[in-house]
Amino acid sequence: MNPYSKPLPAPDADSAPYWDGCKQHRLLIQRCEACASFRFPAGPVCPNCNSREARWMPASGRGTVFSWIVVRHPVPAEVYGAEVPYTVALIDLEEGVRMASNVIGCEPEALHAGMRVSVHFDDVTPEISLPRFRPRE
Ligand SMILES: [Zn+2]
Repeated sequence: MNPYSKPLPAPDADSAPYWDGCKQHRLLIQRCEACASFRFPAGPVCPNCNSREARWMPASGRGTVFSWIVVRHPVPAEVYGAEVPYTVALIDLEEGVRMASNVIGCEPEALHAGMRVSVHFDDVTPEISLPRFRPRE
C-alpha cells in the first residue's frame, strides 16, 4: 500500500515529459521552436505564436516568489491536517514562466515577494516526484 495519501498528478500526453523530468530531479519546461518562448504548463500549442513545434529544455530551477497563501485550515482535514500551516506559492522561474508550488524549509511568516528560491524534488511515490521550492542565498 502506498503510504502517500494525497492527490497525485496524472501525467498526460502533454505533461508526461515534465513528470518524467521531475522523477529524474530535472525541471524541464517547453520552449517553442518557432519563437523561443518558454511555456508552462505544458501544452501542444505555443500561446505566443501558435506553433506546434516545441522542445523540452532543462530549467535553471531558480526563481523568485511572486505571491503566496498560507493554508491554515486543511481541506480535507483527514488528508492535510498534519501539514498545516503550509505555503502555496506562485514562483517566477528565471526562464520567464510562473508555476504554482510549495515553499518549504522556512516558516510561512518568513516569505516575502521576490524571495529567491530554488527547486527541490520530493519523491512521494516510486513514480512521482513533486517539485517544491526552498529559499536560497
Ligand atoms: Zn512560439
